[in-house]
Amino acid sequence: MTVFDTFAMVDWASGNDTGPTPRQDAIWACVVRKASVHESKYLRNRTIAESWLHDLIAEELSAGRRLCLGYDFPFGYPKGFARALTGSDDPLKLWDWFEERIDDEPGANNRFDLAGEINRQFGGKGPFWFNGLKREIPGLAKNKRDYHNPFPERRAVETAPDAKGSFTCWQMGGAGAVGGQIMTGISVLARLRRHFENQVAIWPFERLDKPVAFVEIWPSLNLGAAPEGRIKDAWQVEQVACNLAKMSDEDLCWQLDVSAAEEGWILGVSQDKPNIAPPPLRNDCFALPAGVNWTPVDEALALLQERLRPITASEHVPLMQACGRVLAEDVFAKRSNPPQPNTAVDGYGFAGAVPEGPRILPLVDGRAAAGIPFDGEVPEGRALRVLTGAALPEGVDTVILEEDVTVQDNHVAFHGPLKRGANTRRAGEDVVEGDMALPAGRKVTSADLALLSAVGIADVPVRKPLRVAVLSTGDELVEPGECAGLGQIFDANRPMLLSLIERMGFVPVDMGRVGDDRELLSARLDEAAQKADVILTSGGASAGDEDHVSALLRQSGALQEWRIALKPGRPLALGMWSGAPVFGLPGNPVAAMVCTLIFARPALGLMSGEGWSEPQGFDVPAAFEKRKKPGRREYLRARIRDGRAEVFHSEGSGRISGLSWAEGLVEIEDGQRHVRPGDLVRFIPYGSFGL
Ligand code: AMP
Ligand code: MG
Repeated sequence: MTVFDTFAMVDWASGNDTGPTPRQDAIWACVVRKASVHESKYLRNRTIAESWLHDLIAEELSAGRRLCLGYDFPFGYPKGFARALTGSDDPLKLWDWFEERIDDEPGANNRFDLAGEINRQFGGKGPFWFNGLKREIPGLAKNKRDYHNPFPERRAVETAPDAKGSFTCWQMGGAGAVGGQIMTGISVLARLRRHFENQVAIWPFERLDKPVAFVEIWPSLNLGAAPEGRIKDAWQVEQVACNLAKMSDEDLCWQLDVSAAEEGWILGVSQDKPNIAPPPLRNDCFALPAGVNWTPVDEALALLQERLRPITASEHVPLMQACGRVLAEDVFAKRSNPPQPNTAVDGYGFAGAVPEGPRILPLVDGRAAAGIPFDGEVPEGRALRVLTGAALPEGVDTVILEEDVTVQDNHVAFHGPLKRGANTRRAGEDVVEGDMALPAGRKVTSADLALLSAVGIADVPVRKPLRVAVLSTGDELVEPGECAGLGQIFDANRPMLLSLIERMGFVPVDMGRVGDDRELLSARLDEAAQKADVILTSGGASAGDEDHVSALLRQSGALQEWRIALKPGRPLALGMWSGAPVFGLPGNPVAAMVCTLIFARPALGLMSGEGWSEPQGFDVPAAFEKRKKPGRREYLRARIRDGRAEVFHSEGSGRISGLSWAEGLVEIEDGQRHVRPGDLVRFIPYGSFGL
């Protein structure tokens, strides 16, 4: 949770007391609560500022509010400086280091002397420069002539494209210099942090799981000039506080989600986030127990379910683009639905139940309509005209339907009984703010978009779509439309598999065809592993001379020949190629499709983050007779006619027309079975596979 109730922003200054009259280049702060300015504060020196901050934090904590407190100076120095001074990379140790050494009084402080002292430790020519005092300080030059900096000039954030123009941490004097602001600033923050131990988290070094967060801001970064008549510093902190307060939780979390170990970061500067994809699957993830000859379908599926896990990274997309995507996190309602009690009908609203019998109520002037609430209270014993969807005003909790009343002389007459609350909708009767609206793994539907909108979610955390490469193998294959020579056939699997992938909600990546050539195939698999998360091949998956998919996977050490007790479907070759799982499907189109639906689909679903899914089947009477031997599961191409399951007249796995004839599969269990017409069989419509 990083939701804040209060945003307070501070513009720091390193100079001496600025006097009683509010002025530019002093310390300014602004406190915003519930998106409106609560206080704009001029703080003439750091002693006053520190005690004001102290009181603010104490007040917010005792009120149980979460406070985001921003300061316009760096929380860390460029890489290496903390370790050189303190022996530790921990920037918070550096805070304490400065806190011990900075002497800060309203009329003077020792920042220049301390800078000189530090410089002398490093040879006396840097990292600090610009002595702003009249007197000489050994080691701290007035200009950059003989300057040598043993550390990087800038922090990583100061080299970001949208953070150009910042001063370096090393410049101690001159208009806008931040060198002195850091030293004096982090010293104060170190004390506040110590005082409110366990209540304050420092961003981005610590987890924001405390009621108060200190964050680094840079107001001038993207604010224009202050309006006429306003003091720039005062106006800027107000703008930053208001902008943060207005931001959606998701946007704020996104901005807060940076990693910047020792240097710190400026809130709002975008960071090239590392691809936070989960680590790849292990090479042995498809290993089958040794010594097993034929693996039953259910065991094979259980193994896949156990071994595989989501492999896609997360991102945020606008609501409008979220349909069909898989939620990366649980999504919680930001607002109740309905947000306030309202009327479910057009009619007249009043307070309380009505007993049996006639009732006449005088009407109050005005009305309440959806989006146009009644501005006032309805007194006891009076009624108000209300229209469907209107928020119930104070004094109304029950509504009588317009059709059930007579209106005359500014009175409304009707008959009881009527229960209290009749014809109204309670606030949150559908969803309560803070409740989980949808769980991680949910594939967002059109209805979900309505739900997410209603509960105030505009930005949806989803997983990147799973990219699935499809590759056909075999010397005999030519592209449909090409001229097919003797012994050649058209590539039927690739168009089928690519469209299956798309229909199932994944991203198909067409990797074309390769002949039975190990080198070419190897190069094509490399390319596929680059372009996609998972690879589906068809053909060449058995153990014959020309079965190069299995041969290559075996060579790469990651082949598992899954001899699954399944018809249709010869061995399925499962393996890893350059980190990408490979499903080596049989070449026969019927077997390729059945293996895709039965094995690849749930496995892909799991890897995409949507979880393991089992296709919904229905028990229906058979319209056919079949004797089946024990020892393997069979899938028959089937369709429903007149409430009975018909099967295709041939079980040949090269009979593509049967796939097309069928509208689903009949699944016949592993054991022996004699199906007679009228017996119940399990029919799984293609639709159950997401097609
Ligand atoms: P394989 O698994 O390579 O031994 O192929 C088994 C059968 O499927 C052979 O008859 C192949 O010609 C056929 N086959 C392989 N790939 C395809 C494809 N992409 N389209 C149609 N038939 C194929
Ligand atoms: Mg082949």
